[in-house]
Amino acid sequence: MSEKKEVNLESLGEFGLIDRLTSQIKIKHNSTVKGIGDDAAVVDYCNKQMVVTTDLLLQGIHFDLVYTPLRHLGYKAVMVNLSDVYAMNAKPKQITVSLGLSSKFKLASIEELYEGIKIACELHDVDLIGGDTSTSLTGLTISITALGEIDKEDVVYRSGAKPNDLICVSGDLGGAYMGLQLLEREKRVHEGKSTQPDLAGYDYILERQLKPEARKDVIEFLADIGVKPTSMIDISDGLSSEVLHICKQSQTGCRIYENKIPIDHATSLMAEEVNMNPTVAALNGGEDYELLFTISMEDYEKFSKETDLKIYTIGHITEESKGKYLVTGGDQEVELQAQGWNALN
Ligand code: ADP
Ligand code: MG
Repeated sequence: MSEKKEVNLESLGEFGLIDRLTSQIKIKHNSTVKGIGDDAAVVDYCNKQMVVTTDLLLQGIHFDLVYTPLRHLGYKAVMVNLSDVYAMNAKPKQITVSLGLSSKFKLASIEELYEGIKIACELHDVDLIGGDTSTSLTGLTISITALGEIDKEDVVYRSGAKPNDLICVSGDLGGAYMGLQLLEREKRVHEGKSTQPDLAGYDYILERQLKPEARKDVIEFLADIGVKPTSMIDISDGLSSEVLHICKQSQTGCRIYENKIPIDHATSLMAEEVNMNPTVAALNGGEDYELLFTISMEDYEKFSKETDLKIYTIGHITEESKGKYLVTGGDQEVELQAQGWNALN
């Protein structure tokens, strides 16, 4: 063990720790008037609107340190917040990070967590402007708040979908859930043993679970082709639950086509391995952090512009009275149910 790893939090103290974690942080945006170092940060969005979103991650509920590297955890904690900002069609600009730390954590571990946080901030051009730090009796807690900016007329809510709008999704679904199944299985198999799991060949689904990417590129592409979605949401709880949110808030129905739901080959292989239908993983799995959005028919041809991004049309919005259904490969209509992963279960 290096000397650095020996430093424990008690000897460093709260202010020493905050200083170690934040002393290198540089402010990038004019909208950040004051960052870390006073009683509160100051932001100035001039004539723009500000979006604000918070997520709370609790050890044992939202993550398992047995198989989650701290650098990945820091990165993911930022991504899940930025994903919510993008889902409003906004650009994230600032985050705050609050930590509850049990005293058994070493400085090196917290620095690793912060490395992931800082990499995510760099990639998405975000200022870290504050937070709070406290000891905890119950493991690690991370709460991140993200601020973003947007012109008033560009905000996209969940409530704007209209009958005949097309339902689109970015990337592919179910991978993060299958990655979680793999990690949980290997944890069970190797628990209490000195053996290590062999995870070779499972890279894609592991990355989907451990290192999700908030879809900045999709938001930029939509702006580039001049499409403002009529509604949008990020996929944190599974496709089914998110589609139902849009339908509920827009007072519409929908038809989703099973054979149009994008599922990666690696996701299907893992699903087969554990005897699961990959469509179920996509519908109910969650944590994919892709974007689900609706567009009006007139905008469809704008998507012919060449891009490496994968965006799929998976169904359409209907009148509310037509209900909310999945049309299966066998042409049966199955009512969509919100069985999304629920932290309260
Ligand atoms: P206060 O006593 O006013 O809560 P703190 O001593 O907790 O102030 O924080 C001092 C400064 O450090 C503030 O600017 C705060 O936002 C920032 N800060 C505290 N904890 C963190 C953290 N985990 N990450 C980033 N900034 C932090
Ligand atoms: Mg404080």
